[in-house]
Parts: sequence; structure tokens; C-alpha cells
Amino acid sequence: MTFQDLNLNTPLYNAIDDLGFTTPTPIQAQAFNVVASGKDVVGIAQTGTGKTFAYMLPILRHLKYSTQENPRVLILVPTRELVVQVVDEIEKLSKYINNRVLGVYGGTNINTQKRAIAEGLDILVATPGRLYDLALSHVLQLKSIQKLVIDEVDVMLDLGFRHQLINIFDLLPERRQNIMFSATMTQDVDILINDFFKSPERISIALSGTPLDNISQHRYNVPNFYTKVNLLVHLLQDEKHFNKVLIFVAYKRMADRLFEKLDEFFKEELCVIHSNKTQNYRLRSIEQFREGHNRILVATDVMARGLDIDNVSHVINFDTPEYPENYMHRIGRTGRAERKGETLIFSTEKEQDPIEHIERLMKMEIPILPIPDSVTISTELIEEERPQIKERNNPTKRREEDAPGPAFHEKKAKNQKENLGGSYRREIAKKYKKPKTRGDKNYNKRHKKK
Ligand code: AMP
Repeated sequence: MTFQDLNLNTPLYNAIDDLGFTTPTPIQAQAFNVVASGKDVVGIAQTGTGKTFAYMLPILRHLKYSTQENPRVLILVPTRELVVQVVDEIEKLSKYINNRVLGVYGGTNINTQKRAIAEGLDILVATPGRLYDLALSHVLQLKSIQKLVIDEVDVMLDLGFRHQLINIFDLLPERRQNIMFSATMTQDVDILINDFFKSPERISIALSGTPLDNISQHRYNVPNFYTKVNLLVHLLQDEKHFNKVLIFVAYKRMADRLFEKLDEFFKEELCVIHSNKTQNYRLRSIEQFREGHNRILVATDVMARGLDIDNVSHVINFDTPEYPENYMHRIGRTGRAERKGETLIFSTEKEQDPIEHIERLMKMEIPILPIPDSVTISTELIEEERPQIKERNNPTKRREEDAPGPAFHEKKAKNQKENLGGSYRREIAKKYKKPKTRGDKNYNKRHKKK
């Protein structure tokens, strides 16, 4: 199938030509007519499959020129980084179309965004929290929304946005098209669809467990954290081969810990993102990695999901994800848009079960590589790896449920006062405006004499 088989128009064909795309990706080919039909749509596709254009091509094809101020298309995404990325993609496609696109997200000045909205717009890309705040302030009117796209719904629900979404649905017109994209079909996603969608058309490409053919996968069995660090440092020294490396860890603390270790070796080449970092820090890290100023990015699963970064040479799974779907998301960051990518996965003995789950999902075995001889095997363990010493049958130990709870009545007013201590000093300070001590007894006398 070619783009000519899709019922596009000249401005879109020209934009696609400029981008150098030759054929629609499978999800684009499948989604076009369904999205264009105006029915509710649920698409199962991972990032990297071209899903943003899968919904944007038909939407832009049928969005008529208008000067009205209120947006007609609303696209909700889970993270601020994705807002920036989706706006960028829409702008590329809209190169020859006269439309107004705006991205809004939290953590930045809301007044600047209000002013931008007041100027009028056609397509709004937003994170749910900021969108809701803007809608409540009445600067943003949602009554003209014809199409609602929710992208990365599974991540959105994982991040606890369900209520925000439902609040937003309440503000939208009844008559609208709902389009939803998710990388995985979880139970939460299914519930949301059943509650709010009208017999949607479902489209999906492959099973969410099918690895992309252009990613080569290998794994290492590594005894512990410090040996993993040694192996990683050894590999990363080959700058030519490992030229754009995304390293995944499961949680923030591990991201910081690994960053600290790698910083000793790769200072200028290294950056990190996780949800405790400020918005500016996160955007800067991603930009520096995207542009190639930093060769290595350490990231947690949630932060890096959905990110589209070109030419990632390697995805390294510093730990083995407990949920095989997370492995699929991680490796999908490389081998994008038909390019070759490599992925490595480090597993300790404890991480052998998750490896089995991943292999079962993909219906293939990941070949094992030996740890190179020059890599030092460490015996030192981090806190989480040390055996947990459990005391059995301690007769004096109180069980959790036996712990006394808080009092069930309010304290009397006089008992609620906090004892601040030093009442004498405070009294004196009040009187003389300055703290005085007993040693200063003669202070006033001295001053009177003058
Ligand atoms: P997405 O899955 O939307 O994050 O897109 C992944 C990447 O593929 C983006 O960088 C797109 O610009 C690119 N892309 C989208 N459609 C095509 C296409 N038909 N041919 C080549 N690359 C594409």
C-alpha cells in the first residue's frame, strides 16, 4: 500500500513528501478509513509504529479551515514530554495547512497558556491536569470539540488519571468522536472503553508481544548490581558501537544510584530522567540526548514510554522488567522507523522468572552472551540485595495490628498547644522587641544613663 491509496489531499501529500516517508505504516493503513468514518475507535499500537500519524492524517484530512476561536480537536497525552512531541509531529504534517495547534501542560505559567488560548486555536494537545484547570477557568471552551483523542491510555491510567479523564468527559459535548490509542490492552483500559465509548471499531497491529524484526536482542546473566555496573561501564567504553544508549531501570532511586556510578566514568556524556526531576531538567535531558550532545540517558519506565527519539543504537535493560509488556515498551525505543537497533538485558538469579515470562510472550529465546573476562565480578551487595534477616517468634515484638491507634477524640484546646520552651525569653523579647537574657540585666540601665 502507498500513501496514494489513502484519500489524502495535496497539502498532506506535500508534507509527507518533505518528511521523506514513502509508505504508510501498517497502523496508518488500517486506521485511516476507520478514523475518517467518524466512528469511535480503539487502536492497539505501540509507539514507534507511526500511531501519531495514524490518527492525525485522517483528522487533518477532514478538518475544515475555520476562524472560530474554540478548539475542535482535543488530544490528551499522559506526559508533558509527549505534548511537545505530538505538537511537533502535527506541525510537520500541517506544513501546508493553515491551522492553529497549541500544546499545554502543567508545571509552567498558566497565564501564558491562557493568553495563547484566547488567540484562538483548532487543535489542542494537553495533559489532563492542566487541561482541566484551563477549562475550569473558562478561558478554554470545550463546547466545540468534535474529536477527542486519548493517546497512551494505558500509561494515563497507570499514572492515576482516570478521574481527571472522567471530569474532562463531562465538559465535552455529547456528540463527538472518541479515538483512543493504547500500547497494551489492560483491564483498566477495557473498563474505560466500556463505560465511555459507543461500540468502537477496534484496530490493532500484531500482538503487543511481537518483537520488532529489526531489533536484535541479547541477554547477560549477572550476579548483582555492582557487577552490572562493571559490565555496563565496560560496554559503554566502546563509543563507536554504543553511540546512543537508552538505559532503563525500574524506579527513581535506582536511576539516581546508577547515574551516580556512571557519572564517575561518563560525566559529560550522561543524563537522567525520572518523575522527581523538574520539568525543565527533564526536557533538557531529553533534548540533549535527542540531539546527540549526551550519548547515554538513564530513564525509568514511565518517563521514557512513548518517547520518540531517533537512532537509538541500544536499549539496555539494567534490570529485568517484572511485567513483560514493559520490556516490549523499552525495546520499542530502538529499531524505530525500520532502522536496526540492539537491546541487551541484564538479569540476576532473582530475575530469571521475569526473563521466562518475556520469552514466553515473544515466543522466542533471547540468546545469552558471556560476561567478558575483563569485567570484574563484584561480591558487594546493595541494600535491596542483602538477605533480609527475619526474626522468628520474637515474643516481645508487637504485631502491626496490635499497635495502638491514634486517640479517637480531639485533644482539649489547652493540650493542643505546642510547648515552645523558654517562656521567660519570649516574654522579655515581646517587651523589649529584642531577645534579652539575664546576663543583659544592666542593658536598660546603661542605656538610660546616656
Ligand atoms: P509514533 O509511533 O507516532 O511515535 O512514530 C514513530 C516515528 O515514525 C516518528 O518519528 C514518525 O515521524 C515516524 N513515522 C511515522 N509514520 C511514518 C511512515 N509512514 N514512514 C516512516 N516513518 C514514519
